[in-house]
Amino acid sequence: MFKANEVSYGVLAKRRLGILKKMAKVGPFIMATPTYLKVRCGYPDCKCAGPKEDRHEKLHLSWGDAQGQGTAYVPVDLREEVLQWIENYWTVKEYMKEMTELSRQMIKMYARTIGRVKRQQRKAALLAKTGKAKI
Ligand SMILES: [Zn+2]
Repeated sequence: MFKANEVSYGVLAKRRLGILKKMAKVGPFIMATPTYLKVRCGYPDCKCAGPKEDRHEKLHLSWGDAQGQGTAYVPVDLREEVLQWIENYWTVKEYMKEMTELSRQMIKMYARTIGRVKRQQRKAALLAKTGKAKI
């Protein structure tokens, strides 16, 4: 039924389960593009009131989706965490790509193998039934 170098439908299904388990371990994620902006805090005595290189570095997020465009400043305390969420997003996205590829292979494989067998079985069952009906 399968070529020697071809994995089975069941093996692909197992690989998908493996991806799901890995996805569950990724942790929180966010789809956003991070950029660092130089900003002034507003205190006239602060060093940031001077030249641009002395301004505070702020993590700024931007994103675009079906709801439109959005932006947000990330509080300093949350910076490291949010950068991790962004990294997680790309990890999840990579798993989604892998999962999609496996699912596509499974659909093609099903049509070629399992689906064909089932169709043949249905046909045989139908023929047997109609054959009996004639007797
Ligand atoms: Zn300042």
